[in-house]
Amino acid sequence: MKAAVFKEVGKPLQVETVADPTPEASELVVKVGFCGICGTDLHATREGLTTACCDQILGHEYVGEVVEVGKAAEGGWQVGDRVCAMPFIACGRCLPCAAGHFFQCNNKKVSGVDDAGGFAEYVTTGCRETLPLPDELDLQTAALVEPLAVGIHAVRVARVRAGSRVLILGAGPIGLTVALWCRFFGAREVVVSEIAQTRASLARQMGATAVVHPNVEAGAEGLLEQYMDVAGAPPDVIFECVGAPGLLQQCIEIAPFGGKLVPVGVCEQPDAIMPFFGLVKELNIQFAIAYSKDDFETCVAMLAEGRIDVSPMITDVVSLDELPAAFEALRTPSDQCKVLTRMW
Ligand SMILES: [Zn+2]
Ligand SMILES: [Zn+2]
Repeated sequence: MKAAVFKEVGKPLQVETVADPTPEASELVVKVGFCGICGTDLHATREGLTTACCDQILGHEYVGEVVEVGKAAEGGWQVGDRVCAMPFIACGRCLPCAAGHFFQCNNKKVSGVDDAGGFAEYVTTGCRETLPLPDELDLQTAALVEPLAVGIHAVRVARVRAGSRVLILGAGPIGLTVALWCRFFGAREVVVSEIAQTRASLARQMGATAVVHPNVEAGAEGLLEQYMDVAGAPPDVIFECVGAPGLLQQCIEIAPFGGKLVPVGVCEQPDAIMPFFGLVKELNIQFAIAYSKDDFETCVAMLAEGRIDVSPMITDVVSLDELPAAFEALRTPSDQCKVLTRMW
């Protein structure tokens, strides 16, 4: 099969012919229809904590059609089923697996990290980690289920509720899906802080009630002032969706007494905070990562029923041959949001 392969740090992905996947008995083979490019994929090609191995096929935001069903694959899967899948193949026997929390399984393979991912014609998925797509849901839209699931998981973990006042730092794909779900769950204020103009307007389309343009020199104090101007009170919940050093401290300074910070952005560098400022406000810092099966199922259902709209986020669709160049282009900030690779 054809696949875009990560060769080494500093080199673009390379489209080449590799061996077709060889599924285990409990796995499915999926012909990939679309696979989105994620910040995590970019991180995996840099020197850092999550650098991929050489010759790895990245990509974990894939959807497609089942072309092979393993002999022991439970779930009644049929060739031709349209599916999306969580990018894990977990053990299926431990306690977290029983509850659908496959990310917490200590014996899982992660597609696009330590197992072949979706920037390829075919990918293997686990029978338990795969979800059927309703007829009403087209494959291109379904490719957004994974980033939507990251967003809904963060919002659930944060316990955003009707009437919450929310601040979201950053309007990248994750900040945008967090904004969408905060709005969906009835947050009173969904204020997004974003410097880039195109991202700011996307944030409005995705559910932000207001967007503020932060003044870097004015720091936390300036941002809190801007927030108060539009929301009338400080934020109950702050989502950090950038992952840059210095922002956690800024959130600590902005939050009111008893406030909640939810770091969702991926920061791989040391980042100093002054605990004292959090202490005197009894702040609650709750990290959020990935999703459970229920998060995925909810995203699929809400998309299929037309109760959420992610179409503004899809800014580019490229072919597998165009993927390496599109991938490199995403290293420098641009007007792009979600770039999808279309495989057929
Ligand atoms: Zn992703
Ligand atoms: Zn397990």
